[in-house]
Amino acid sequence: MRTVKYMWPLIACLILCMTLLCGCALIQKDYQSYEMYSMDTIMSWKVWDASDSSIHEDLKSIILEAEQMLSVTNQNSEASNMNRESGTPFEASDALAGIIKRSLTFAEETDGALNVALYPILRAWGFTTENYSVPGQEYLQELLPYTDWTRIQVEGNLVTMQDGMALDFGAVGKGYVTDVCVDLLKEKGITSARLDLGGNIYTLGTKKDGTLWNIGVKMPFETNNELAGILKIQDTAVVTSGNYQRYFEQDGKLYHHIFDSKTGYPADNGLYSVTILSQDAFEADALSTAYFVMGQEAAEEDWRQRGGIEVIWITSDYKIYYTEGLKDCFTVTEGLDSEMVIR
Ligand code: AMP
Ligand code: MG
Repeated sequence: MRTVKYMWPLIACLILCMTLLCGCALIQKDYQSYEMYSMDTIMSWKVWDASDSSIHEDLKSIILEAEQMLSVTNQNSEASNMNRESGTPFEASDALAGIIKRSLTFAEETDGALNVALYPILRAWGFTTENYSVPGQEYLQELLPYTDWTRIQVEGNLVTMQDGMALDFGAVGKGYVTDVCVDLLKEKGITSARLDLGGNIYTLGTKKDGTLWNIGVKMPFETNNELAGILKIQDTAVVTSGNYQRYFEQDGKLYHHIFDSKTGYPADNGLYSVTILSQDAFEADALSTAYFVMGQEAAEEDWRQRGGIEVIWITSDYKIYYTEGLKDCFTVTEGLDSEMVIR
């Protein structure tokens, strides 16, 4: 009898362990998540009902391949090889040539607000090495002619640009890779997934229970993760460009990472962030950067003509503007000042 009495705690312990193990198995069956560091940021995702964990390997290779193509800090990347050979025609891969072509289309549509040829300016400010400093105005003036995106030509896969020019894909790379990942998930029959590729969100399908995803829009410079509001969405990319995402301070002034290629200085037009919603993550990424540079008025004009995207602007006085298509899916945090922008 004594032995049985002492065995009870052991049996209870065993039952608890079994329950926990079963629980874990159930959770694992329901969704799989993964996190990695690439493209200078954290990439993570959750995928529901994948048949096996090879999905992670597939997504991981897509991201690593994109990094190997686009990174300008990796001296062996395709982009670095192309930049080194500027002045002579460069035979780019299909993917890189496609990215440059699309970027040039957005440059044209936004009057150069999106400009992938800004690398010489980014380098001068130290945004490529994190050795930040404010360059002299004369030096910036000397560099600006080398950022003229109209001097880039892409014929087939042959990229030609002026000697001394160099391209940087920081404004579109994560959007590009998001689209490729989403295509793969769809190909694999996945109907529910949430990707967060360095802050670029993509919601594929709905949540497993059929309800919409809740995506928070960050309040710029808020350290307590305070949200400007919550989006309830499905099958949409949500991409934010903001001055608070990367910056340095010198003599009490903040210098951020999104540049106006007309001046060579960080865009300074009263905006703290721009969020774009689109089914096309490349478009969302390209336009969030461009709209941030253009300023709210010009961006509203572009939005009225464009179709297919919705926008949230947060101004330097923390007022939130959102386009009318978000009326039913964006809830602004209580107490914050907001206004709807109509077509
Ligand atoms: P994003 O966070 O998508 O707005 O992209 C910002 C990144 O794109 C910066 O860190 C730079 O690498 C690069 N960049 C900065 N300004 C521009 C611009 N006007 N057009 C294109 N790329 C830019
Ligand atoms: Mg962007």
